[in-house]
Amino acid sequence: MRVFRLSLLAMIFCLSLTPGRAATSALRGEWNVILIVNDALRADHMGTYSYARNTTPHIDRFFKSGAIFSNAFAQATWTLPSLASIMTSLYPSVHGAIYFPNDAKWVEDGYTPPAGKILDNSRLTLAEVLQDRGYLTAGVASGGFTNSAFGFSQGFSQYVDGYKSMQGINRTILPWLEKNHAQKFFLYIHSIDAHDPYKTSPRFDQLWDPDYVGDIDGRREIVTAVNNGKRTLSKDDLHHLIALYDGGISYLDEQLGQLFDKLDELDVADKTLIVLTADHGEQFMEHGNLSHGWLAPYDEVLRVPLLFRVPAQATGRQIAQVVESIDIMPTILDFLAITPPQPVQGQSLLPLVYGAASQAGTAFAESAHSDDKRDAVRVLRTRRWKYIRRMNSGPDELYDLKKDPLERVNRIAEEPDLIKSLTLQFTQWEQENLRVKKSLPPLTGKPSSLEEETVEQLKFLGYLP
Ligand SMILES: [Zn+2]
Repeated sequence: MRVFRLSLLAMIFCLSLTPGRAATSALRGEWNVILIVNDALRADHMGTYSYARNTTPHIDRFFKSGAIFSNAFAQATWTLPSLASIMTSLYPSVHGAIYFPNDAKWVEDGYTPPAGKILDNSRLTLAEVLQDRGYLTAGVASGGFTNSAFGFSQGFSQYVDGYKSMQGINRTILPWLEKNHAQKFFLYIHSIDAHDPYKTSPRFDQLWDPDYVGDIDGRREIVTAVNNGKRTLSKDDLHHLIALYDGGISYLDEQLGQLFDKLDELDVADKTLIVLTADHGEQFMEHGNLSHGWLAPYDEVLRVPLLFRVPAQATGRQIAQVVESIDIMPTILDFLAITPPQPVQGQSLLPLVYGAASQAGTAFAESAHSDDKRDAVRVLRTRRWKYIRRMNSGPDELYDLKKDPLERVNRIAEEPDLIKSLTLQFTQWEQENLRVKKSLPPLTGKPSSLEEETVEQLKFLGYLP
C-alpha cells in the first residue's frame, strides 16, 4: 500500500513537538536506519541478556551504549505473522498474514499463497513510508517466509532474498554500504543462522559442546522426530542440541561483527539508528517440543531481543517495560521525526530510550493454523501474568511469572477475578483490532506463485513436506 502524503496537520504536529525534539528533527531527517531481524534468536541466549555462554561478544560490544529492552515480545510464534507485524505495526489479525500455510490445499495449488498467507499489498509497510520520504530502501533476507512472494519486498527499491547465511548477506551488503552510505538509507537485514537446522560449520558446531558423544546433530529430521514422539532426547543429547543452536548464534555474531566494523570504518554507525531484534525465539523441550510454531506461545518463543543503538547518544540502559514488536516501526518513525501514517497499533519507545520511566506495559500475540481458527492461540502478557487462550485446541492457561517464570503451573482455576479482568482486556483488544481492520482497505489476496527456489527453502527449513 502506498504511503499517505504528510498532511499540513501532521506538519503542524511535527513542529509542535517539545523544543528539544524539534531542534534535532532536522538532523534526524538525515539519519539512516538499519533494522536487523534475526530469525529464531532467543534473547536469553545472548550475552546482552546475561546468558552464561559468551555467544554474542560483537553484538554486546556494539550495543553496549544502546537501549536494551528486557521484556520485548513478538506478536506471533512464527515468522510470517511476526515479521509482518514488525513491518506494519499491526497485529496479525489486522495485517492478515496469519495462517500457517503447511496444508494440503496450498501444496495442491502449486504453492500459491492466498490472502491470509502473505503480507497483503493493501497493507502499508515501514519500507513504503521511508521510500516515500526519500530514503534509499534495501532489504537482504534469508529464510523462506521473507521472500518477496510473501509480500515483504513492498517499499524496497532493492530486495534480494534467498540467502542461506549471514556470510552471504555480508557479501552483498558490505559492498552495498561502501557504494551507497552517503545517501539517506533504510537497510533491512534478515538472518537465518540461529534457525534450525542447527548446522553451521565444524568450528561453530563444536564450539560449545566439543566432548559430546552421541548421534545428535542439527538436522531438521531430529527436530521433527522428537516433536512427533518418534525419538527421545537424553540430557546430554538436549544439551548438545542447545550447544549447536548456540554455535549458530556465535557464527551469526561473528558475521554481524564484520558488518559493525564496516559501519565504523565508513563512519556510518554514528549517523544511523540501528535496531536489532528477532521474529520469535526457539524452544528446547521446556514445554515438550523443539523449534517454534503456532502452538508454542511460551516465553522461550515469544520473548525476543530488542536493542536500539542511537547515533550520537550513549544511553546504555536496560528497560523493563513490557513492549511489543509492533512498537519498532513507530519508534523508527518518531526518531526520524516522521508522523506515523494511520493506523499503527504500536507506540514509539523513543521516550523510554531517552530515559523516561518504565510503565507496566501489556503485550498481545496471536497465531493460527487456518482460517477456520481450529488452532488459534491468543496471548496476553504483562510483567507478572501470562494468559493463553486456546480457541479450540485445549484448556486455557494462566501463569504467575513472578513465582513461576518457566510457565509450569497453570493457575487458571485459582484466579477467577483476574481471569475476568484479563478477559475484558482481551475483548477490548479484539474490538480495537476489528475497528482498525475496518478502517483499512480490504485484503486484495492477490496470489503470486512461489518460485521453485522459495519452495525448496521452505522445505529445507521444515515448513513444507
Ligand atoms: Zn522465524
